[in-house]
Amino acid sequence: MTDVVVIGAGQAGLAAGYYLRRAKRDFVILDAQERPGGAWRHLWPSLRLFSPAQHSSLPGRMMPVPADGGYPTAGDTVAYLTDYEQRYQLPVERPVSVRAVRRDGDALLVESDRGSWRANTVVSATGTWWRPYVPHYPGAFGGRQLHTVNYRGPEPFAGKRVVIVGGANSGAQILAEVSTVAETTWVTQRPPRLLPDELDGRALFEHATRRIHGESGGDLGDIVAVPPVRDARDRGVLKAEPMFARLTPDGVAWADGSSLPVDVIIWCTGFRPALGHLAPLKLRGPDGLIPVDGTRALGEPRLHLLGYGDWTGPASATLIGASRTARELIRRL
Ligand code: FAD
Repeated sequence: MTDVVVIGAGQAGLAAGYYLRRAKRDFVILDAQERPGGAWRHLWPSLRLFSPAQHSSLPGRMMPVPADGGYPTAGDTVAYLTDYEQRYQLPVERPVSVRAVRRDGDALLVESDRGSWRANTVVSATGTWWRPYVPHYPGAFGGRQLHTVNYRGPEPFAGKRVVIVGGANSGAQILAEVSTVAETTWVTQRPPRLLPDELDGRALFEHATRRIHGESGGDLGDIVAVPPVRDARDRGVLKAEPMFARLTPDGVAWADGSSLPVDVIIWCTGFRPALGHLAPLKLRGPDGLIPVDGTRALGEPRLHLLGYGDWTGPASATLIGASRTARELIRRL
């Protein structure tokens, strides 16, 4: 019997590991990937974080400031998480893919492709990257379609006509890059809202915290004006069209009958929590999420959820937010 099994060794699982180690608990962290870094391994190389290193750090150890003094890249974050795991000697077993978590008498049974663990407590920290979301639109498009998860950089789109769908940070950042080499159209469900230049991801974190504590925090905006996004704004390409109504063989069409021929559609339409392994516990609410009190599942008090989004803690799917929520989780254990 293991006291605590953490599923997932991205930033959320590692933050939990740090506090479990400090509390001298018996635990193991199971991770499906061959190597450390969680979702950051898969983000495109030119991506920069939207907060400086000192505000993108896990407990105990600050992320090093990059040599150019700018915000860290996805690669810097992988290097940091790799070092973090080793420095605190976190007991990560990989690659171990958890298939199911079930009730087993007075314990939870964690079943994987590499054996099973019985645990008093399970912390699920499997992130969202593994469940990209693409909304359904009627019609069929004959060109290339991809989601944020498949984007590696602007080069393949040189000289093409590209529609970028989605009004959050990834849509704005991909648009900023692709618009330097391609003819782009940005399509969003509601008008995109840029944060003022002087605010970065720290403002989003504070805003999420205020909202969780019942304060409105005002209407802040949600896209951080990182340098490439600022540059795109200054070039006049950051103008969004309303959402189209359907796909056509050679592009997209709006409800008013207007249409646009394009070569590529990039869906920057977000993710859903990767919770499939928890299905045997039958905890999901009608919205597909598991109802929680803090991080603890209401229907199964031995299960905690960490990361994923604001519903498990303020900004808990960010580096800084995961740390604070993990500290609170381990305190509750
Ligand atoms: P993940 O990093 O996804 O880690 C989960 C781990 O669990 C993975 O290693 C996965 O392999 C493993 N796993 C999944 N399922 C299983 C299973 N069944 N069994 C075993 N292991 C499993 N945040 C910031 O703080 N600053 C930023 O600037 C920022 N920019 C972002 C830009 C983009 C484009 C995106 C998409 C996100 C950004 N984020 C940013 C958000 C956030 O930091 C990441 O989403 C982060 O990766 C979430 O960490 P996590 O540990 O919750 O999940």
